[in-house]
Amino acid sequence: ELHNQIQETKGNIRVFCRCRPLNKEEILAATATVVDFDVAKSGDLGILTSSSTKKIFKFDRVYTPKDDQVDVFADASPMVISVLDGYNVCIFAYGQTGTGKTFTMEGTVQNRGVNYRTLEQLFEISKERSETFTYNISVSVLEVYNEQIRDLLATSPASKKLEIKQSSEGSHHVPGIVEAKVDSIREVWNVLQAGSNARSVGSNNVNEHSSRSHCMLCITVKAKNLINGECTKSKLWLVDLAGSERLAKTDAQGERLKEAQNINRSLSALGDVIYALATKSSHIPYRNSKLTHLLQDSLGGDSKTLMFVQISPSEQDLSETLSSLNFAARVR
Ligand code: ADP
Ligand code: MG
Repeated sequence: ELHNQIQETKGNIRVFCRCRPLNKEEILAATATVVDFDVAKSGDLGILTSSSTKKIFKFDRVYTPKDDQVDVFADASPMVISVLDGYNVCIFAYGQTGTGKTFTMEGTVQNRGVNYRTLEQLFEISKERSETFTYNISVSVLEVYNEQIRDLLATSPASKKLEIKQSSEGSHHVPGIVEAKVDSIREVWNVLQAGSNARSVGSNNVNEHSSRSHCMLCITVKAKNLINGECTKSKLWLVDLAGSERLAKTDAQGERLKEAQNINRSLSALGDVIYALATKSSHIPYRNSKLTHLLQDSLGGDSKTLMFVQISPSEQDLSETLSSLNFAARVR
């Protein structure tokens, strides 16, 4: 009802903003906050850019640090369900490192995030519909680091570079990638853990590595309507993006510089694609990065896109927060 109204009037891109709580250190240091959630209408967020000026940003939803994983998923859920109706969907988390991208998407065992809840819901609904539909659900877990694709479910290293190919009917896929068939939610956690563990292999600092790569979960749903025999195949991408923070000038050399340039390139490519879609441009530049090329089927057309812009409430992070909010403002 309300959700449908929003969809009819606003196209297929939704932007939700989520602010993390102050952490222990920030509380101890009595860090000032710059976020005002009490501005006029819901969906607005005020940022104090100085003691006397406030800038207002508009979103489809704003989550305060008090909102939990259940609140967040409740709003994402209609999009998730639409994958069972044959829609391609893409949900991603954007923001500076440390603002809760992984918390929102992966979550923790006590506080499971969008990824797990999505699969849980897909199984639940497919069961409810089992008299009229059969669903076949599989998952792939990838990482894009320095414009290279790595299969996080592969048990042995790929013998050759993974590339994106377009099939004759127009959809995009990565030949050779593991697609793990999952039949129940019990199997899912293990698959997600395997993917998550594989991320750290070969890197000396797990957190640093994950903040510089995009972690991408792809859920493929094949549906068969048992009444009319019709079959559909759709894809749902769940993406934990690399940190959007700018590189400190002092770090701008060697491998670190290359990483930063690749992150900038792919995040701006993502912004450009969504902007081109939002403004109904005739050319959508999907091919400018591995990230957008992979997501091509789930961005644009009649697919549905949801972006979480993750921010910090701290005054220390103000410039990165403004930069993330401006990124979001451009695509909305
Ligand atoms: P990112 O992936 O963007 O670098 P993380 O998800 O790792 O950030 O979050 C950084 C820290 O903040 C983690 O310890 C995480 O558990 C915590 N955190 C982030 N968002 C929330 C939230 N909404 N509620 C509680 N803790 C959060
Ligand atoms: Mg993270």
